[in-house]
Amino acid sequence: MIDTHCHLDDPVYAEDFESVLSAQQAGGVERILVPGVDATNIDAVLDVCSRSNGYLLPAIGLHPENILADWETQLDTIRTRLFASGSPYIAVGEIGLDYHTDTTYKREQQEAFHRQLRWAQEKDLPVMIHSRDATEDCFAVLREVNEEALSAGLPAVRAVMHCFSGSHETAQQVVDMGLYLGIGGVITFKNCKLKEHLHGIPLERIVLETDAPYMTPVPYRGKRNESRYMTYVMDALSEVYGLSPEEIDRQTTANAKTLFRIP
Ligand SMILES: [Zn+2]
Repeated sequence: MIDTHCHLDDPVYAEDFESVLSAQQAGGVERILVPGVDATNIDAVLDVCSRSNGYLLPAIGLHPENILADWETQLDTIRTRLFASGSPYIAVGEIGLDYHTDTTYKREQQEAFHRQLRWAQEKDLPVMIHSRDATEDCFAVLREVNEEALSAGLPAVRAVMHCFSGSHETAQQVVDMGLYLGIGGVITFKNCKLKEHLHGIPLERIVLETDAPYMTPVPYRGKRNESRYMTYVMDALSEVYGLSPEEIDRQTTANAKTLFRIP
């Protein structure tokens, strides 16, 4: 298993960080990707990654919920760090659009998303996309960047729609754009329709994630999430695809390695 989205720099892991890491390794987790969320957590992400002997892989980006009055200053810092020589990032993320709680900075969110997607293109890096109540605008920005990339002779955006919980139609659109779906604990929640929505969606387009410490799968819902609990997500995907958890593991791990170019 590869956890493609896990906030291990969160203070809830600070106290028992070493034992958390060994528990994930013992639980069959091969690698863990740690996204950035703004300019202030860059060093925290790099710090946990440097203490993991290559087990944790860092990403960098400005999360849409952190786009406030100082967004341009934050983006400047992120750009400088991303383009610095020897920059260690495996991806740009998490970036995107979030209209759920606040739309004050809607235009700025779109602008920041656009810019960061362009940086990922320039650096030839994959992207972790956060999209909440903003599907249409999210696709619109992606299409714009892809058109610009095409005319500049650059490849299309490579990305995962992280914490996917949308409709079948949206899942199909994601696949049609050549993107991946990040599936986590949500799929285990009671009354969640995601299992039905994934019918007919190729398993080759799915990667596993936790979004830990959040989105803890049943039966641990309400507790601090950990990457090893992705076995419950794999069980749910087994039901959807009629394959063994081992086969789900093998394919989703291969997908994560392809998308993030993990050797
Ligand atoms: Zn996240």
